[in-house]
Amino acid sequence: QRKFFVGGNWKMNGDKASIDGIVSFMKGPLSPNTEVVVGCPQCYLMYTRQNMPDNVGVAAQNCYKSAKGAFTGEISPGMIKDLGCEWVILGHSERRHVFNEPDQLISEKVGHALESGMKVIPCIGEKLDEREGNRTEEVVFAQMKALLPNISDWSRVVIAYEPVWAIGTGKTATPDQAQEVHAKLRQWLRKNVNDQVADSTRIIYGGSVSPSNCEELAKKGDIDGFLVGGASLKPDFVKIINARG
Ligand code: 13P
Repeated sequence: QRKFFVGGNWKMNGDKASIDGIVSFMKGPLSPNTEVVVGCPQCYLMYTRQNMPDNVGVAAQNCYKSAKGAFTGEISPGMIKDLGCEWVILGHSERRHVFNEPDQLISEKVGHALESGMKVIPCIGEKLDEREGNRTEEVVFAQMKALLPNISDWSRVVIAYEPVWAIGTGKTATPDQAQEVHAKLRQWLRKNVNDQVADSTRIIYGGSVSPSNCEELAKKGDIDGFLVGGASLKPDFVKIINARG
């Protein structure tokens, strides 16, 4: 009963001209069985929302944990909503590792975004040395545990599992590697939240998803979609959106 979900994360890419190009290929056709969201730089949120087809949601790639105030350079969930955008990606690995955002801050951001009525894509994932040290489970469970107290409404949450070693490297997790972690995350939800949340929450995979590997990944029972970086800027993104048919 989990609707397939594909998010595009443009990261710090694009300008008005290239967004026009993305808007044209996002006319699809896109499978009606997939929920689709694109995450664009904050300065283009309004432009993207105004131009993107209505069946494509628009997400910010970050926001702050307060509604307003003396936080130079930050934007609030309320501002994102004011521009007509419903979604925000939080705790992306680049926020965690390039900008040193800790678990606690990410969790508070998720809490405030949900309280503000937004839909949230919190991202988790282990680094290469953590995987090689057999610590994947420990790391992603700790990231989930930090999020838990601030998640007031699981129906507006899509968890993105993005192993850091697979992001932008062309080194995708194999379908079996990804499925294994997704299944463990679902078990974690069953144990720490409840059956209903475990059964209904989408857990999507990110990290070098491409038109050539998306179909195999999409066959796995606990992979409910993707968060796509580089490939979301290109027309073949539509193939990834339609990977489950
Ligand atoms: P790539 O698809 O470019 O590896 O990026 C993944 C990602 O970080 C999506 O949020």
